[in-house]
Amino acid sequence: MKLTLVGLPLGNIEDISLRAIRTLREAKTVICEDTRMFYKLWQKLVNDGHLQTSFSGRLMVVNDFNEAEKVAWLIDQITLAGEAILVSDAGMPLISDPGYRIVKEILAREGTVEVIPGPTAAMTALSVSGLSADKVLFLGFLSKKTGKRNENWKLVKEADGITVILYEAPVRVQKTLEEIQAGFGPETPVVIARELTKEYEQIIRGKISDVLANLKPIKGEVVILFRR
Ligand code: SAM
Repeated sequence: MKLTLVGLPLGNIEDISLRAIRTLREAKTVICEDTRMFYKLWQKLVNDGHLQTSFSGRLMVVNDFNEAEKVAWLIDQITLAGEAILVSDAGMPLISDPGYRIVKEILAREGTVEVIPGPTAAMTALSVSGLSADKVLFLGFLSKKTGKRNENWKLVKEADGITVILYEAPVRVQKTLEEIQAGFGPETPVVIARELTKEYEQIIRGKISDVLANLKPIKGEVVILFRR
């Protein structure tokens, strides 16, 4: 039994790798997050001349809401098919995206997990941020529950000299920045990386008090980074 994790672009179709295109072309069984997003990507690749025909394999769906209940069934399907690929809507599978339970189960059964790397928003943002990449703490999406959020802030407080990377919904950026300022001070260097690799890509860098003072309503996808 083999599962191949395929990294996809964050937004710019030209970031897809040759290996990812070949693997998509040859795939007979695909597990994706959202069939509409998968077909949209496939069509873009057809339009750009990388794929010739429409997808004729089997498509299965896994998302954050159904992964736990579907994992046993998915493992059966992968076993029957012999191999499958797993893709997210964008970026790397398992990175704040579904797939962990499937990978864990395949490894427990001594199956093979292979990866075709692609971009992740976290690392793409880190490299362009101007913040040190020597020691990094990636927290993904913070919980909305105060208790769990505070556990994360405690973790950050204990670790000095690190760059912290967060995924955040645009409507919550201001609140999260305010929490960072309250916890780590107005001089904290912060970066907001918005719409990476897309038409309206924007990188906002500065000390957090200035960034907050000049913050306009944020649209699109956002990574927040700060140094402490
Ligand atoms: N698997 C993806 C990866 O490898 O980065 C992450 C998926 S997670 C569900 C989506 C979050 O990733 C967004 O809310 C945002 O925080 C971040 N993200 C994804 N694409 C982005 C982009 N183009 N620019 C900025 N942030 C992005």
